[in-house]
Amino acid sequence: MISKKNLFTVLVVCSSLCSFGQSKEAPKLVVGVVVDQMRYDFLYRYYSKYGEGGFKRLLNKGYSCKNTNLNYTPTVTAAGHAAIYTGATPSVNGIIGNDWYERTSRKSVYCTADSTVNTVGSTSSAGEMSPRKMLVSTICDQLHLANNMQSKVIGIALKDRGAILPAGHTANAAYWYDNSGNWISSTYYMNQLPEWVNTFNDKKIPASYLSKPWNTLLPIEQYTESTADNVPFEEKYTKEDKPVFPHNLPQLKNDDFELIRSTPFGNSLTKDFAMETIRAEKLGAGKFTDFLTVSFSSTDYIGHQFGPYSIEMEDTYLRLDKDLEDFLNFLDTQVGKDNYLFFLTADHGAAYNELFMKEKKIPTGIFSSSKMTTIINGFLNKTYGEANWIAYTINSQIYLNHSTIFGKKLNLAEVQAKIAELILPLDGVAGVVTATDIKKNEFTSLPNKFIKNGYNEKRSGDVIITLQPGWMDYKETGTTHGTAYSYDTHVPLLWYGWEIQQGASSTPVNITDIAPTIATLLNIESPNGCTGVPISGVVK
Ligand code: ZN
Ligand code: ZN
Repeated sequence: MISKKNLFTVLVVCSSLCSFGQSKEAPKLVVGVVVDQMRYDFLYRYYSKYGEGGFKRLLNKGYSCKNTNLNYTPTVTAAGHAAIYTGATPSVNGIIGNDWYERTSRKSVYCTADSTVNTVGSTSSAGEMSPRKMLVSTICDQLHLANNMQSKVIGIALKDRGAILPAGHTANAAYWYDNSGNWISSTYYMNQLPEWVNTFNDKKIPASYLSKPWNTLLPIEQYTESTADNVPFEEKYTKEDKPVFPHNLPQLKNDDFELIRSTPFGNSLTKDFAMETIRAEKLGAGKFTDFLTVSFSSTDYIGHQFGPYSIEMEDTYLRLDKDLEDFLNFLDTQVGKDNYLFFLTADHGAAYNELFMKEKKIPTGIFSSSKMTTIINGFLNKTYGEANWIAYTINSQIYLNHSTIFGKKLNLAEVQAKIAELILPLDGVAGVVTATDIKKNEFTSLPNKFIKNGYNEKRSGDVIITLQPGWMDYKETGTTHGTAYSYDTHVPLLWYGWEIQQGASSTPVNITDIAPTIATLLNIESPNGCTGVPISGVVK
């Protein structure tokens, strides 16, 4: 029998052990970084040229999920940012593309467009944005809900969608770039910019970044990981004769400051603004965990223009590596080395350029969806009579005009199936699936499994096309993304900082596993549409 005194000792020891186990301190700040269009192989293709403090610090001192893939199509920016932070695929979170066709208004809609709000910080319409079209909560919303809204949550990116979707519905603020050179927001978040944002804008940093030519960081002959500087695969800047270094930014610039988006200095500006946000808003200095989401957009603009094998792309990553080093060093001193949880991933990868692939004798091609539309219209007019058959074509999806089909008392599934049969033989088409088939069936293999994950019954189209690997509906210069193939789905996922053990794993991870992993680390609930699972190597 335990004496009263002993019982007391047992209780004290037990309660101190239990409370030690339960109230594990939380990080002061979570920083989520998305590098727009970052292919996984960029970690290693440029590895020997990275410094010790950027990507290499994350790789060698953090935890790398080497086999992380997006698990839906279309693999585009808005869908990527939403999937990372909601832990849900577009079928559930509703962000099925950057734009999609809305049947009720019979118009194409933009993922974050919101006519009920106004721009804050500029006279342009670039601020008429909100997260309202996203149907679920993000991990940042869950953090707010876990502590009665006491965290500070802020989203930042040059692209509006890269700032707005991650930070979620309850964000304290989201800031994105206006071509006037200012960081702006919308009345969804605030009625005027905080004084520190005005002060930052008044410094006219974009003007100073664009005041000198973009030259390579290293001597150009050292860029042996990339193709020659002057190749026909690259799109030159509008006022340039050739797509070559040095790119004379002061001459290429128009009246506004849009040009910075498609230079590596757009990323530097984003980093500058992220650091100022942490300083001015005292992120990581309060009693509750704060959350900053940062998306580096310039990598995507440059990728689209020059392709993933260009010196421009390589130089952009070498410069981003330096910006990352700067940012991590800043976090060390400002928030404290072990006080922040940091992760870096991408919203999608990118294909190799078509001419580049041709040169290497790897199957590739350019597909024209407008030619396809003409073929379909011709067929439907001939079969069922002249009418307005196709409402819209976007994201490799054909939206049929349902009122035409029902008006003629046709069977929708039958018309969809006939179109699928008609376009399958076209050059570059690998497969066609109808909305009716997607709704009826479960799929275990690609691409239909991913198409189903990207299919939202209210928002998606009637017929969905998959091109062959290496094919794209794009121009011959630069590149794009959007498919279910690994070049578009395979992305880096690096964890670093608070509670993260050094390591790596090649176990498959879905992009939708990031949000529940953060939820588990922070002891909070996952987003309300979450279908992912915590990554076992990271949460231990
Ligand atoms: Zn993107
Ligand atoms: Zn893109």
